Amino acid sequence: MATMKHAVLRTGLETLYFTGGHVWLRPWLGGVGAILTLHHVRPRDAGDFRPNQLLEVTPRFLEAAIRRVRASGLDLVSLDEMHRRLATGEVGRRFACITFDDGYRDLLRHAYPILRKHEVPFAIYVPTSFPDRLGELWWLVLEIVIARNSRIGLVVDGKDRRYDCATLEDKRDLYESLYWWLRDLDTEEDLRNVVRDLAARYHVDIAQLCADLCMTWAELEELASDPLVTIGAHTVNHVRLAKVSADEARREMRMSASVIEAALGKRPRHLSYPVGDRTSAGPREFAIARELGFATAVTTRPGVLFPEHRKHLTALPRISLNGEYQKPRYVRVLVSGAATALWNGFRRVDAA
Ligand SMILES: [Zn+2]
Repeated sequence: MATMKHAVLRTGLETLYFTGGHVWLRPWLGGVGAILTLHHVRPRDAGDFRPNQLLEVTPRFLEAAIRRVRASGLDLVSLDEMHRRLATGEVGRRFACITFDDGYRDLLRHAYPILRKHEVPFAIYVPTSFPDRLGELWWLVLEIVIARNSRIGLVVDGKDRRYDCATLEDKRDLYESLYWWLRDLDTEEDLRNVVRDLAARYHVDIAQLCADLCMTWAELEELASDPLVTIGAHTVNHVRLAKVSADEARREMRMSASVIEAALGKRPRHLSYPVGDRTSAGPREFAIARELGFATAVTTRPGVLFPEHRKHLTALPRISLNGEYQKPRYVRVLVSGAATALWNGFRRVDAA
């Protein structure tokens, strides 16, 4: 299902670009602005088995995207300014916000110099367990285990199962099926237990992986001192909030803001729901975020911003700039709102 939707979005992007549909639809669909989501920014890896490649773009693509957004006549603004424009209704020129989830170190090395050079405000949503070196990047643990082994054993639904994953095709298939099986487990704890078990069996050091990939508090502090940078909350343990109890969801959100405030001296006003799709954040989470006083909170539901989002500031959609749509010409189509309008069946606000 997810794959099919991606294919539709991709062909939609091509069609809209080549027919110019994104230009003539814009007055009706373009909204007032868009929030862009990024994760890793780094040169492309040579490996063939890269199931998480959709979470990365190259530095060149990032720079091209910034130029395209500005050439399309959009202001690049901070989350505070986005919030001000939506809340007051003084929306001004169309705008875009650039946001990064998770706080990977490649941002500092490959993205920050570009953002600095073009004076682009941007936000980083940090799960506090990552700089605390306790983060479990389970989607990468799964990738590493499958990449390094030709056969793996796993307890699935109480039974010991074995899977062959010697060839590239087997690895891709196995990743796809285990990833979605894990995502479908009833609780976040169930998912974490399977992945901890896999890591132990196949000698993947979860803490080391986190230390290798994620920024330290000192690195975050350096970035946070730049007026271009906004640090946002992204829970403590990067849990899919809809999969835990209301109390725990509240604790994850509140605690992450407190930890960031203690470490960096400023309480974050903005939140990003981990994973952020419909199965990870819904009306309950939107209400808790509002109740905890976050000015805005973002999902990964695809869409652009409309004046109506003023009433749904903790359920904002975003547009993913990712490895699957990594062509500069797509950026203009994406921010036009036409592609996500197709995806959403022309519904403007999706906060249910
Ligand atoms: Zn995340």
